[in-house]
Amino acid sequence: MTEKSRDLDLLIIGAGPAGLSAADAAAREKLNYLVIEKGLIADTVYHYPVGLTVFSTTNELELREGTLKPCREKPTREELLNYYVRFALEENLHINTEEAATRIERAGDNAGGFIVHTSRAEYAAARVLVATGAMARPRRLDVPGEDLPKVHHRFVEAFPYVRKDALIVGGGNSAAEAALFLSEGGARTTLAIWRSDWENRDPKQGCIKHWVREPLEREMAAGHLRVLLFSEVEEIGADFVKIKTDAGASETLPNHVVFVLIGSDADLTLLRDVGVRVTRDGLADVPTYDPATYETNIRGLYVAGHFTHSRHIKEAIAVPRRIVPAIAQSLKAVQSA
Ligand SMILES: Cc1cc2nc3c(=O)[nH]c(=O)nc-3n(C[C@H](O)[C@H](O)[C@H](O)COP(=O)(O)OP(=O)(O)OC[C@H]3O[C@@H](n4cnc5c(N)ncnc54)[C@H](O)[C@@H]3O)c2cc1C
Repeated sequence: MTEKSRDLDLLIIGAGPAGLSAADAAAREKLNYLVIEKGLIADTVYHYPVGLTVFSTTNELELREGTLKPCREKPTREELLNYYVRFALEENLHINTEEAATRIERAGDNAGGFIVHTSRAEYAAARVLVATGAMARPRRLDVPGEDLPKVHHRFVEAFPYVRKDALIVGGGNSAAEAALFLSEGGARTTLAIWRSDWENRDPKQGCIKHWVREPLEREMAAGHLRVLLFSEVEEIGADFVKIKTDAGASETLPNHVVFVLIGSDADLTLLRDVGVRVTRDGLADVPTYDPATYETNIRGLYVAGHFTHSRHIKEAIAVPRRIVPAIAQSLKAVQSA
């Protein structure tokens, strides 16, 4: 049932690193704020593969300097998730989980002020910060058979696939990591990758990180993993996959499970529907915003995190720290006018 809720200074949508950082900054500014999260606290991290070691260093991930203390040099998914959840609990951040924002409505004139509709309530908020990330829509191959239950667009863990024929399609670090997990975990693993991605060694161009590539090459040398340079997946069947190789030949592989890990896109519907302009940046749609304030073309509506041009956790945390105090200032200016 929908209920009308209290007036807020700032409503934050999404409790990933950007939303948590924004909530922390809002609490420090003594704003009346609330975070609405459709899943769990740090839901994107929760959906990382079980046991994954992340690639960032602790200083790029933590919400307070020196407080993230992993066992090894870099934290695992479990350590990072635990850190964000503990932070939210210890700082008593105001977060409603399992509540999705469904519509942002401008309230009245052009002076800021919104009604945010969610799956549970309606909130009046003077300012809104959207930090919904870029994981909503995993990219698809759009080939016959992709809707079969054995085809997954996220990788969780290798245990169900011991001694099974697994195919991973993708050229980035996530695909390579999944191939490594599967191969080391006992699946007969094939990584289908474009030649340009396999030969890419440039970290700025999203190459496979060296600490993933080196064990991957060891698995190949040991005969546990095959890297197949391909041009397209032609068809996925119940027990096979038909692939066109880099050399133009068609190859049919025995197959029990397919992981399509070719990236994901943000869902910008909330922003588009309220009138935020969106532009194309390479493969991704990005909302337009002032690069200093992160305010969109809709006055009082801000963005932060992975769907902006600041794509890593480091920036997802840093940007709200800069912009929330400015939002607080602008609210004080309105109140004292
Ligand atoms: C396997 C993997 C490993 C990675 N490793 C690293 C790494 O080592 N270092 C690094 O910097 N980056 C890494 N990334 C990327 C990193 O996860 C993102 O950059 C980061 O999560 C961005 O933070 P964010 O707060 O912008 O978005 P997210 O963390 O995606 O948070 C957005 C939140 O918004 C919620 N949401 C979405 N829509 C709604 C709605 N309508 N209503 C309410 N809530 C909503 C989502 O449920 C989600 O919790 C990795 C990504 C993956 C997939």
